[in-house]
Amino acid sequence: MVEATNFIEQIINEELESGKVTSIQTRFPPEPNGYLHIGHAKSLCLNFGVKEKYNGKCNLFLDDTNPSKEKEEFEEAIKKDIEWLGFEYDKITHASDYYEDIYNFAVKEIEMGNAYVCDMTPEEISANRGTLTEPGKESPYRNRSVQENLALFADMRAGKFKDGEKCLRAKIDMASPNINMRDPVIYRILRETHYRTGDKWCIYPMYDFAHPICDYMQGVTHSLCTLEFEDHRPLYDWVGITLGFKNKPRQIEFARLNVTNLVMSKRYLKKLVEDGSVEGWDDPRMPTLTGLRNRGIPAEALKDFCARIGISKANSEVQISYLEACIREYLNIHAERAMAVLTPLKVTITNYPDGKTENAEFEINPNEEVKRNRNIEFSKHIYIDADDFSLNPPPKYFRLKPDGYVRLKGAYIIKCDQVVLGDDGQVKELLCSFVENSKSGNDISGVKCKGVIQWVNADTAVDVEIRKYGHLLNDEEYPGQDFSERMNKESVKIFNGKVEPYIFENDENASYQFIRTGYFKRLKVKDKEILSEIVSLKDNFNVKK
Ligand code: ATP
Ligand code: MG
Repeated sequence: MVEATNFIEQIINEELESGKVTSIQTRFPPEPNGYLHIGHAKSLCLNFGVKEKYNGKCNLFLDDTNPSKEKEEFEEAIKKDIEWLGFEYDKITHASDYYEDIYNFAVKEIEMGNAYVCDMTPEEISANRGTLTEPGKESPYRNRSVQENLALFADMRAGKFKDGEKCLRAKIDMASPNINMRDPVIYRILRETHYRTGDKWCIYPMYDFAHPICDYMQGVTHSLCTLEFEDHRPLYDWVGITLGFKNKPRQIEFARLNVTNLVMSKRYLKKLVEDGSVEGWDDPRMPTLTGLRNRGIPAEALKDFCARIGISKANSEVQISYLEACIREYLNIHAERAMAVLTPLKVTITNYPDGKTENAEFEINPNEEVKRNRNIEFSKHIYIDADDFSLNPPPKYFRLKPDGYVRLKGAYIIKCDQVVLGDDGQVKELLCSFVENSKSGNDISGVKCKGVIQWVNADTAVDVEIRKYGHLLNDEEYPGQDFSERMNKESVKIFNGKVEPYIFENDENASYQFIRTGYFKRLKVKDKEILSEIVSLKDNFNVKK
């Protein structure tokens, strides 16, 4: 028996032990009405995790019962995202693959006197549903004969009625304390072209009726869904029991993933795309899987995050800094180091010969078991980051200051001899001298110097736009919150930086730690190549400035 790491696996273990089930099957059931987001990653990890752990099966089940919102484009994107995460489904299935079966099961419910055609409008139905404290009112059509219901349902399918003119309802209990059991609608008339079945159907089953049937038809043993479906479970069970399913699938609910500063409703994400607040579904600031992939978040880091937060029965919110820590932890081990300056400040090393170059040695990644170095060309003209120089430094300032020393990473210690100011009074250039015999690895100069800063060779550095990101949403939650009020208006910072040419000679998909700066990767934005932040080096959005 495998060791359970959450309450769902515990349930599965008990069922295996008692012989209630002998093999395990789950499914991942997205509606193809948008792109997957990080919340779906949690559901994917759970469903595919159970498959792997119990040597079972897991289908990708597209829940396409709402033709007005669903598209092939979304289905394709969903497949790509799952592939990116490295999960393999046994089959791709759709609710629409089972429309004929679902229809036949509805006919069976009618024959058993468990369903009736109702002529009330959707508005009338909801007005008569009752409240938490009052029972609902029975529909005047509730006691139609089986014969009449069968004929009317066939006419619904044949297109003899207008949209919304009739519907099929389960005949359960208008006084049930669970409103979902008060004769829920199980089929509606809707003339919308479906992206898979075209105009073949003008009636569509409702989620609550289709889902238990599709689970059953596929051989699902455990139908894992989020907590908001808990109140729907009695209906899920009602369908299976009335239709006499043997080995009825069991629905188990778990808590949704919520992350601070991230919005995870497809509806709102769609709004951001449509109103141009972001560049698209794959904008690197988006919490969609395509956005995270474009951002350069490693799939492994995302799965690690999902494993660490675990599966629980209580809703909660995870700090985004926790996700970022998982990403940093992965990249710290896997990303190459490189040098970039975001705000270049020119430095001339006056005592270094004109035209001379030499190699500075640079460790590719200090976490590698077998250390590898790379050469970086050093010369008389370099750039450092303007933030690494201070005209009026505070005490204990270890970066460069007038008459101060600093080490250039992998190269020499330099001393700032003279500051050249522009007409505007801003620092324009530094005239420095390098300390003889102070080269990294061979330093016999005796000069003590605490600070080490990054630099690039001015003769070979590549000019590039570098983008850093803030969160799309500010922290605070307003009561009755409207996400648009929480939008962070400054979620992108753009720098005209300079980087080593290596970045553009190396694998275009590589991730880098720009030392002392953050993790970055190359990205094409509207055909322009930029360097885009994956995650900052430190948690710099939550520190109080
Ligand atoms: P949204 O509310 O963003 O539209 P959804 O629940 O409608 O999401 P579906 O496509 O129906 O999205 O979801 C597919 C599966 O992913 C469902 O089982 C759903 O419960 C699960 N899921 C969706 N959001 C989350 C989340 N934030 N955390 C965990 N699981 C989620
Ligand atoms: Mg949904």
